[in-house]
Order: sequence, then structure tokens, then C-alpha cells
Amino acid sequence: MHNFNAGPSVLPEEVLQEASSAILNFNNSGLSVLETAHRTRPIIDVMEEARELVKELMMLDDDHEVVFLHGGATTQFMQVPMNLLRKKDIAAYADTGVWSSKAIREAGYFGKVEVVCSSKDRSYRYIPKNFALPHEAKYFHLTTNNTIYGTQWHQIPDVSVPLVADMSSDILSVQRNFNQFGLIYAGLQKNMGCAGASVVIVNRKWLEKTPVNISPIMDYRNHIREHSMLNTPPVFALYVSLLTLRWLKARGGISAIEKMNRQKAALLYAEVDRNSLFTNRVDVADRSLMNVTFELTDESLTADFTQFTTERRIYGIAGHRSAGGFRASLYNALPLSSVEVLVEAMRDYEKRVQAK
Ligand code: PMP
Repeated sequence: MHNFNAGPSVLPEEVLQEASSAILNFNNSGLSVLETAHRTRPIIDVMEEARELVKELMMLDDDHEVVFLHGGATTQFMQVPMNLLRKKDIAAYADTGVWSSKAIREAGYFGKVEVVCSSKDRSYRYIPKNFALPHEAKYFHLTTNNTIYGTQWHQIPDVSVPLVADMSSDILSVQRNFNQFGLIYAGLQKNMGCAGASVVIVNRKWLEKTPVNISPIMDYRNHIREHSMLNTPPVFALYVSLLTLRWLKARGGISAIEKMNRQKAALLYAEVDRNSLFTNRVDVADRSLMNVTFELTDESLTADFTQFTTERRIYGIAGHRSAGGFRASLYNALPLSSVEVLVEAMRDYEKRVQAK
């Protein structure tokens, strides 16, 4: 199958093979990874290696801590402001779609939120460029890749307050100076494994300056201190993540995968632009490398095109339910050959429609 789903999404074949054999017999222990005690060396090693690989691949400095937490990115919409804001504090947010809006709503429970820019006026099909931040803001939050609309911040704004980023749908896919961020979070189920957990990368020095009194299980500082084992971690999801991180390292890391990702996206955008049946409504400069959205100019062909692509084992290209149209997600593990199959299907479909 050619899996273009937005998440959960395609995983490397080797990762699936190894994960499935570890379900039966983990590290030749005679036990499944699912039934191994978490506070034992083999699982502690999984967690340590996963953390170290995130640090290595993202070239993080010693101030940045990596923690793995239960729940998805949506939980982080809440946990981030809970850890960083007191009631009178201001947090600045960029509104670039449904996921940012949800993050904004959650932050409102903990502090004052100022939405400093929004692309809502054009259905979130661009990244806002001009905005000013309140200088007293505790942080500025942005969603680096907007999974639903297919937009991406290709340039991270240079701002005077700490940056907080939801990188759920482009983590590990493109080179950035990750040390410039105060906090980064992402659900694991796109470029980093399967659903069930999130990674949070936080500047410890900055975090230590925020004396917010919260429930211990929500407090990042406790998770850092306990090496993501404050309670039973989602062991299997973290094991799949470790295998995915090893796979990425073996392929040359972020810079190598970024080259491949650019090649895949360029191929598909070129076809969307060339093909008379399709359009893409995103400002060209803001097009996402991870989620390519496109629409049929004649919407009545939707069911027919879907059937046509399904016959070619193309899976998961329906657009998000709130946006419609189509969306092909080109995460790290999606091979170039799958994009070639989709592009060929679009070409052949155009010929078929024109021949009618
Ligand atoms: N942020 C972004 C950018 C996303 O794409 C998603 C899910 N697609 C979420 C947050 C929500 O993630 P989760 O379902 O893991 O809570």
C-alpha cells in the first residue's frame, strides 16, 4: 500500500518487522516487550537510547532536556501553559489553523492569551508574516507545520521572547536550529513512531525560572528528574519510536531525509501545478513539505478519482474533514516511489477525463 495518511502514518518496513518480533520475543529474553517490567535495564536502555538519539539527531545542547510523556499533542496544548503560565502572565500565539486554535483555547485556562497573528481570513492557506509581540509575553507559540491546510513556517521568526512550537507534523523532517526554542512538543505518530505518546524538548534553565505550582504528574520538572519514568511509561510506543529514530540515523539523519523530503514534495507540487484537473490554494512560499493539499477543480469527480487511486493501492489521501479536498502526507518513511505512483495516477486520471 502507498500510505499517505496524515497520522497515524506510514512507518518504515524494518521498524514494523522489528517491532512485531519484539512483541513475541524482546531482545531474546523470552518475554514480549509488552510484558517486560519498565524499571528494568532493557527498558531503561530503550528510553535512554531514544532520548539520546533525539538529542543527537536534533543537535540539542546540554540545556535542552528530552522527555517522553503519555498522551498526544492535544494534551500538550494544556500541559505547556499549565507549566509556564500564571494567571496574570501573557502568552502570545499565532493562529494558523485548527490545531493552533485548540492550543490557544487551552492556554486561556492558565493565563492571558494574545493572538498576535492569524491566517483565518484566507482559510489558513498562508503563514502570517507581519506581527508584533507584547514584550512581556512569557513565550510565543507557533505550529510549525499545519497538517490540515498544508502550510509550514519555513522561516522561524526571530523574536525576543522564548519560542514554543508544536512540531507534531514536521519534527525530524527538516533541519532547524532547535536550540533556539524554549520548548518543542510533538505527538509521536507521524515522523517519530506510533500513537500513544509525545516528546517534549525543553530548555531546562528556562523551565527552572517558572515557579508554577501544579499537580506533580503534570510538572515537566518531575518528568525530567525521573527520566520519563514518573509512572509507567507507554513502553511499546517508545520502543517503536526508538526503532524509528535508529532508522533515521542509519539514513543519514535529518539533513539527508530533508533532501529526500524536498524531492518528494517538489515532484508532487509540480504535478498539482501542471495537471489541469487540480489546484493548490496555499501561497507558494508557505507550502508544506509534509502535507500536500490539493483540490479537484471539478468537485463532482471526487468519488471517481478516489476510486481510481484506491485501485492503485493509494491510501489516505482524503483531505481533513474540516477542509475537504485531498491531502497527501509525505512523512519521512514514505518512499519516493509512492509519490511517483500518486503522480502517475494523477496524470493517467487527467488523460482519462480528457478522453471522455
Ligand atoms: N498538532 C498538530 C500539528 C497535529 O497535526 C495534530 C494531529 N494531527 C495534533 C496537534 C493533535 O495531535 P494528537 O492527536 O496527538 O493529540
